[in-house]
Amino acid sequence: MDRLLTFSEGHEIYRKSFRSWLEKEVVPFHDQWEKDRRVPRHIWTQAGELGFLCPTIPEEYGGAGGDFLHSVVLAEEIERVHATGLGGIPLHNDIIAPYIREHGTEEQKLKYLPRCASGELILAVAMTEPNAGSDLAAIQATAIADGDEYVINGQKTFISNGQCCDLIVVVAKTDPKAQPAHAGISLLLVEATNPGFKRGRNLEKVGLHAQDTSEMFFEGCRVPKSALLGGVEGKGFYQLMHELQQERLITAVGSQAAAEFALAQALQYSCERRAFGKRIADFQHHAFKIAEMATQVELGRCFVDRLVVEHMQGKPLLKEVSMAKYWVTDMLHKVVDDGVQLHGGYGYMLEYPIGKMYQDCRVQRIFAGSNEIMKLIISRQLIGRG
Ligand SMILES: Cc1cc2nc3c(=O)[nH]c(=O)nc-3n(C[C@H](O)[C@H](O)[C@H](O)COP(=O)(O)OP(=O)(O)OC[C@H]3O[C@@H](n4cnc5c(N)ncnc54)[C@H](O)[C@@H]3O)c2cc1C
Repeated sequence: MDRLLTFSEGHEIYRKSFRSWLEKEVVPFHDQWEKDRRVPRHIWTQAGELGFLCPTIPEEYGGAGGDFLHSVVLAEEIERVHATGLGGIPLHNDIIAPYIREHGTEEQKLKYLPRCASGELILAVAMTEPNAGSDLAAIQATAIADGDEYVINGQKTFISNGQCCDLIVVVAKTDPKAQPAHAGISLLLVEATNPGFKRGRNLEKVGLHAQDTSEMFFEGCRVPKSALLGGVEGKGFYQLMHELQQERLITAVGSQAAAEFALAQALQYSCERRAFGKRIADFQHHAFKIAEMATQVELGRCFVDRLVVEHMQGKPLLKEVSMAKYWVTDMLHKVVDDGVQLHGGYGYMLEYPIGKMYQDCRVQRIFAGSNEIMKLIISRQLIGRG
C-alpha cells in the first residue's frame, strides 16, 4: 500500500532492527506471557538498551532524539506481529513520558527521563477510578499539602503497566473544592517504592492477556513537594489535555496497523481455504466482503498518515485525531469481526491470529477516551455546546 508518509533510510533501519528483535525475543515467547498475564522485566531492559524506549526524547535527557515517525514504526511493527503484550511501550513512550518532557521541571526531566529511556523505570498513568473514568473532573483522589510534602489518598483502577511500573503519574486533586472541579486537578510523580502505595489485583481482562492492568491504592502516600509535575498546582487537567492529540493519534496508528494485519489474515485464509470445489474467496459474498474490508482499511490509512504528517508539522488537530481514534478503532473492530466470519470455525480458535484479535481489539473503542467521548468532542467542535 502506498503511503503518504516518507520514512527515511534511518527510519527503515530502525524498523528492521525492531522487527528482528520482535521476531527473536518477543514472538516466540508471547503465548507464555499471555499465560503469565505480563511481559517479563528483561524485555523492557532490552528495549531500552536497543533504543526502543522513548525514541523521541532529546539526547540531553537520555533519549535517542528521534521524531514521531520512530514512534509510528514501533506501534506499527508491534501490531504487525500482534505482540499485544508490548502495548505498554507506546503508552510509556508516546503518552506518559511526554507529560514529563513537556510539563516537568528541569529537575524532574533530568531525574526521570534518562531512566525511562534506559528501561530502568517503567511508567504508568493513574487517572481512572472506580467511580470516575470519562468524567475525569469527578475523581476523588486527593493530594493535600502538608509542610514540604503532599499526602495522597485514593484508589485507581484499570491502570496499564500497573503491576510492572516503577513510576506513576498520579492524577489527584490538590484543591478538592475548586470550581470548576478540573481546576483543582494536579499530576504527581509517585515512585512505586513509596510505602504509601500498594498495587491491587492484576485484573482479569477479556483480551490483551500479556498486558498487566491493575488496581492501585494510595493510603497516606507522602511525596515531596518536588513531585508535583511542573511545580504548579491545578495544572493537571491542562497538562493531560495538552498531550491528548498524540495519545489519540498513536492509538489510531496502532489500530490502523492492526486492521491491515487482520485484512491480510482474512485474505490469505480466503484464498487458501476451499469449499464446494473452489476457493472460498471466489464466492461472490466473500469477494465483496474482502473488497469492503480493503476499502475501509485503505481509507483509514490515508486519514491516519495525513494526520501523522500534520501532527509532525505542529498543527492543532483535536477534532481530527478524535475522528481518527473513533473511526479507525470502530473500523478495526468491524474488519476483525468480518475476518472471523470468513475464517468460519477456525476464526473462533485462539490458535488463529484472527481469533486472538477478536478478543484483543474490542477495548480500543473504550480506552484512550471512549468513542462516545470522541463523538462528543467532534460534535462540540462543529456545533458548540448546547
Ligand atoms: C485495558 C484497559 C486499559 C486501561 N488503561 C488505563 C490507564 O493506563 N490509565 C487510566 O487512567 N485508565 C486506563 N483505562 C481506563 C479507561 O480509560 C476508561 O475505562 C475509559 O476512559 C472509560 O471510563 P469508564 O470505564 O469509567 O466508563 P464510563 O466513563 O463510566 O462510561 C461508561 C459508558 O458511558 C459512556 N459515556 C460516559 N460519559 C458519556 C457522555 N458524556 N456522553 C456519552 N457517553 C458517555 C462511555 O463512552 C461508556 O460507553 C484502561 C481501561 C482498560 C479497559
